[in-house]
Amino acid sequence: MSEQNKEQQENIQKNSLILQEKGELLFQTDIVTRSVVKNLIRSAIDGMKNAYAPYSNLHVGAALLTTKEKIYTGCNIENAAYGPTNCAERTALFKAISEGEREFAAIAIVGGSYGSITDFCPPCGVCRQVIREFVDPKAFLVILARTEEDYSIYSLESLLPLSFGPEHL
Ligand SMILES: [Zn+2]
Repeated sequence: MSEQNKEQQENIQKNSLILQEKGELLFQTDIVTRSVVKNLIRSAIDGMKNAYAPYSNLHVGAALLTTKEKIYTGCNIENAAYGPTNCAERTALFKAISEGEREFAAIAIVGGSYGSITDFCPPCGVCRQVIREFVDPKAFLVILARTEEDYSIYSLESLLPLSFGPEHL
C-alpha cells in the first residue's frame, strides 16, 4: 500500500463511525463518516426551513445521502385536506428517485415545533416502509439529530424489524 493510500485508509478509520446497538459493535461504514453526518444534519436543518406546516406547525427537514455521496433535502408539505400531506423524508426520497437515484446510504432527520429543535424527530411508519423499498435495511442508516453534535444513529432494520420488501414478492 502506498503512503498516500495508507494515509487515506487511516483517515477513513479515524472518521468512520462504529455503530453500536445494545452495546455491540455492528459495523463500520466508509461513506458515512462523522464529517458526512454533520454535513447531512446541516442539510436537514436547511431543508426544514422550507417546511410547509400551517396546520401542525411541526417543521421537519430531511437530508438523504446517496451512495455516490450526493445529498437530496426534503421538508414536510402539509395539505388542507390533511391526507395528502407528505413527510420530509419522503419528499427527499421522491426527489432523489425522480432524478434517477436508486442507491442510498443514510438519511438525517430533524424537526420541531415552529422549527425549534428540542428533541429527536423519528420517521413515521409510512416513511420507514417507503425507504425500505430502496435500501438494504441492515446497511442503511437513519440519523436523528438535535444539533450537529447531538445525534443518534440507527440501522433501518432496528427501526423496522422483520420488514416486508421487494424480495418478498
Ligand atoms: Zn413520514
